Amino acid sequence: MESGTWRLLISMMPLILYLLFILYSNHTSQKGQMKNGPVIDYGEAVVMPGLIDVHAHLDDPGRTEWEGFPSGTKAAVAGTSIRREEAAIRELLTVSKDTRIGGPAEGAHLHIVHLSDSRSSLELIKEAKGNGDSITVETCPHYLAFSAEEIPEGDTRFKCAPPIRDAPNKEKLWEALMDGHIDMLSSDHSPSVPKLKLFAEGDFLKAWGGISSLQFVLPVTWSYGLKYGVTLERLVSWWSEKPAKLAGQDMKGAIAIGKDADIVVWEPEEEFNLDENHHVHLKHPSISAYMGSRLAGKVLATFVNGNLVFDDGKHAPDACGTTILA
Ligand SMILES: [Zn+2]
Repeated sequence: MESGTWRLLISMMPLILYLLFILYSNHTSQKGQMKNGPVIDYGEAVVMPGLIDVHAHLDDPGRTEWEGFPSGTKAAVAGTSIRREEAAIRELLTVSKDTRIGGPAEGAHLHIVHLSDSRSSLELIKEAKGNGDSITVETCPHYLAFSAEEIPEGDTRFKCAPPIRDAPNKEKLWEALMDGHIDMLSSDHSPSVPKLKLFAEGDFLKAWGGISSLQFVLPVTWSYGLKYGVTLERLVSWWSEKPAKLAGQDMKGAIAIGKDADIVVWEPEEEFNLDENHHVHLKHPSISAYMGSRLAGKVLATFVNGNLVFDDGKHAPDACGTTILA
């Protein structure tokens, strides 16, 4: 080899050594020896961005005997008349047109909560979106899981507003969700004390309205959605990406460098009976319409901002959430 080539090789030695070092450290880190900390191997489980529930009632401060932050957040990491609905949406849409580009309220945004009617109300929303209104809409797992025909007589666990509608409505709701006409999901978790559900009387008119669901939204959406072709990507879009965007939380909603490490690890295939043997962290599990269901999707671990707050059925001793004022 000519001396010029040798000189070139010798001058490149530091670079070559550096590249060899990188190759070596990558090799060792694959064996589980990360430089910055331990590796947790969840095997075949799904590692997904944490869910963001943009609409849940915890009644804290206030009626903490109904739920409150301690039980509500524990549940969250361990696991939302057609004519009246249509009239309410029609009224909202009279202002949403102002949010169009060039309109008097350009930059403002309208979000419609807990859509239950997949017929006329949804058509109005689709029209408004088509006209360029800045508008999003959510529905809740209970409208996707249940239909009015299946609700046992006088079972007030199912009372909510707007109400659960008929089976064809549920089918259309799934269709609209899968087609992207409904943007996201929320629990609309509604706690209360069992007394107010008036189980003995079974009076739907007088009983407290609302579905208690906070801990179950992920397995419910997954289990009931399988027949409609739900995918993990869809779940991330409905439960993480779109809610983060709506709430203006740029640091959340995805697993990416620079974002908050809010992560849920779960096993979609793992089935369980939601009965008295299942660990329910809600303050009053008996009021939930989901009790007695068989579901698929078991949460193994939850990280909030990189902190492991729920692991194999156990909670971290201290809460690490922070108040976000939007
Ligand atoms: Zn609500």
